[in-house]
Amino acid sequence: MKPVIIVHGGAKTISPDKVAANQAGCLAAVEAGWEVLRTGGSAAAAVEAAIRVLESDQTFNAGFGSTMNSEGEVEVDAAMMEGESLAWGAVAAIQGVRHPIAVARRIMEDKPRLLVARSGERFALEHGLEMCAKDDLISEEQYREWKEEVEVLDRPNTVGCVALDANGNLAAGTSTGGTTGQPQGRVGDSALVGCGLYADNRWGACSTTGDGESIIPVVLAKMAIDGIASGKHPEEAARFAIETLVDRVEGEAGCILLDREGRIGWAHNSSDMAVAYRFEGLSRPAFFTRQDQKNELALNLLP
Ligand code: ASP
Repeated sequence: MKPVIIVHGGAKTISPDKVAANQAGCLAAVEAGWEVLRTGGSAAAAVEAAIRVLESDQTFNAGFGSTMNSEGEVEVDAAMMEGESLAWGAVAAIQGVRHPIAVARRIMEDKPRLLVARSGERFALEHGLEMCAKDDLISEEQYREWKEEVEVLDRPNTVGCVALDANGNLAAGTSTGGTTGQPQGRVGDSALVGCGLYADNRWGACSTTGDGESIIPVVLAKMAIDGIASGKHPEEAARFAIETLVDRVEGEAGCILLDREGRIGWAHNSSDMAVAYRFEGLSRPAFFTRQDQKNELALNLLP
C-alpha cells in the first residue's frame, strides 16, 4: 500500500497576512508525518508526529497558542482512532500538557477511554508525557485578545490529520483548544469518536473541525465515512457530510478524508480551511487554503 497523509489547520477565515504561517505550519506537519510513513512507521505514529508540529505552532488552536476559555485558561481536547482494531483514546478539558495528541494516542494504546480534566492530566504525568505549567500554553496574541475582548475574524483553529500507512492501516487524530471564551469544562466534538474523528480500515478515516455544537448532532466524521461505505468518492463523501450539516443544523465545519485506497477528499463551508497532503510521486506536499483552489492540475495529482 502506498502511504498518504493529509492535515488540516481548522475551518476558519485566513486573512492574507496569515496565509504564509498557515502554509509553513501545515507543510512542516505533513513532512513530519510523511517522514514516519516513508520509513515504515505506523499511521498512528504519523498522525501524532504531524499533530505535535501543529500543537507547537501558535498559528493553530491546539496545544500552545490555543484559544482561551471564559476564565482566561487554555483547556484542550484531543483524540486519536486507528482503523484496524477501532481502538481510540481521548482527553478533554486538560491543562498543562504540552502535546494532548500524545496523551490521546497513549490512552488508545493502553485502554480506549475518554479521560477528562485531572484524570487525563494524571494519566499524562504517570506515563511520562511532557508536562508544562498551564500558562506556558498561552501565547501572547491569545492573551491580549482575551484580555481586551477583541473581536477577531481570523482566529486560529483546530487541527487534524489522517494517514494511511504502508500496511494499509488508517488513523485519524484531532486536537483543539475549543472555542474562544467557552465556559470552563465545555467539550466540543474534537474528543468524540464519530464526531471529531473516525477511522475504520474497511472504509476510510476522517478528522473534522468547526462548530462542535453543530458537528455533534450530525455525527459528522462517521457520516462522512458512511458516505464512503455507500460507494462515494471521499471528495463526494466530504461534500455530502458538510452539506448535510448545513441543511440540518446550520453552522461552520470542515473535514478531511482518506479512503482505504488512499484517495483524498475534503470539504468546508467556512471561508477557508488550510489543508496539506503528501503521497508518493508528489515531489513536494500540496497546500490549499480553500477548496475552490483545487484546480485540474491538483486533482490530476491525486492518487
Ligand atoms: N470543533 C472544535 C470545538 O468545537 C472547535 C473548532 O474546530 O473550531 O471544540
